[in-house]
Amino acid sequence: MSDKHFKSLNFLFIFIASVTIGVVSAYIYTSDFFEKKEQKLSSNTVEKNISENKIKPSEKENIIENKIDSNIVQNQLETQETIYSDYLNQGAFYFKYVTDNFSKMNENIDELTGKNILENTKINLNNSQKFLEAIPPESRYYNYAQEYQKYIIQYQESAKKWEDYFNNKNRYQNQKILPPNSPDLTIKNKAVFVNAMKPKSIVLTFDDGPTSEYTIKILDILKKYNVKATFFVVGKRVQENCLIIQRMYQEGHEIGNHSYTHPYLTKISIEEQQKEIAYTQQIIQQCIGYQPRWFRAPYGDQNPDLLSIVNRFGLKNAQWTIDTNDWRNSSNRKTITNLAINNNNPAVILMHDGAKTNPNFIHPEESLTRMNTVNSLENIIINYQNRGFNFYTLSNAIK
Ligand SMILES: [Zn+2]
Repeated sequence: MSDKHFKSLNFLFIFIASVTIGVVSAYIYTSDFFEKKEQKLSSNTVEKNISENKIKPSEKENIIENKIDSNIVQNQLETQETIYSDYLNQGAFYFKYVTDNFSKMNENIDELTGKNILENTKINLNNSQKFLEAIPPESRYYNYAQEYQKYIIQYQESAKKWEDYFNNKNRYQNQKILPPNSPDLTIKNKAVFVNAMKPKSIVLTFDDGPTSEYTIKILDILKKYNVKATFFVVGKRVQENCLIIQRMYQEGHEIGNHSYTHPYLTKISIEEQQKEIAYTQQIIQQCIGYQPRWFRAPYGDQNPDLLSIVNRFGLKNAQWTIDTNDWRNSSNRKTITNLAINNNNPAVILMHDGAKTNPNFIHPEESLTRMNTVNSLENIIINYQNRGFNFYTLSNAIK
C-alpha cells in the first residue's frame, strides 16, 4: 500500500466516521425532539391532573410554553393552536356532561338525586369553563370557545336557580314560585303534564278576567271552600281592576299571563306578540309585585314562533286538559258541571271569568255572560272534594 493510498484511505475513514457521527447525532437529536413534541401534544399526565383539579389550565399552559420556548420555537404558533384545539375539545367534553345533567334535572327526580346531579353539574361547568377561558383571543378557536362560554353562563344561572329551589323549597311552595322542572302544558304533552301533577290534584283555571261582574263572585265561592285557583288575566283588564288582582293574590291564587288585548297571536307580528306578553307581565308586576310564571295563549292559538317568545320571557306555556266550553251559548250549568267532573285523573280545567274580551272578535257562538260558570262552580268543587281530590294552583299542582 503506497503512502498516497494510505492517506486517501485515512481521509475516507475520517470522512465516513464524521458522516456517521453526524447521522447518529441528528438521529438522537430528532428522536429526542419528536419525543418531546409528542409529550407536549398529548400531555396525558397534565390532562389527567387537570381533570382531577390538581393543575389549573393556566399552569398547564405555562408548563407547555416553557418547553416550547426552549425547543421548538419555529413551530411555536402551530403547536399552540394544537393545544388550544385540545382545550376546546376538553371544554366541549365537560360541557356535554352539563347538558346531559340538565336534561336529567328536567325529568321527575327525587330531591337527593337532584342535589347530587346539581353538584356534579357545577364541577363540570367549572372544568369546562377553565379550559375555554384558557383559549386567548388570537387563537382561531377563540370564537368557538366564546360560543360555549355564553351557554355556560346561562347554565350557571340555571344551576343557581336549582340550588335556590333545593335550599328554599318551603319558600317556593308558599310563594307559588314555579319549580324549575315544571313541564309546559301543550296539546301534545297533556299526558306528560298530568303525570307530573300531584295525585288527586285539580287545577281550576279562569281566563279573560278580571271583571267586576264575575271574578269577585268566583273569588267569594273559592274562599268559602278554601280552594286555590289560577287566573289567566288579560293585561288591559288588569289595568282597570288592579284591586281584584291584589285580592286574588292575597287569597293565595296564582295569576297567569293571557296577553294584553286577547288577539289571535299567530295573526300578528312577532314584535306585537312580544309586546302583548311583555306589557301584561309589567302591569301585573306593578299591581302585585309578582310576575306570572305561566302563559296561556288566547283561543289556544299558538305556533313555534310564539312558543319560543313565551320561553324567552321565562314563561311556561299552559293549555288545559279539560275544556268546559263554558263560553258557548249552547252551554248551561248542567253541561259545564258534567264536562268538568267527568274525570278521575289530575286535571287542569278551563273556565272563564270574563266575556266580550276582544271587541273585534266575538265568536258567533259566544255567550255574552259568564253567569253559567259562576253558577256551576260550587257543584264542581263539592263533587271533587267528596271524591278526595284537592285543589291547587297550577305551580303547586306540580309534584
Ligand atoms: Zn281567553
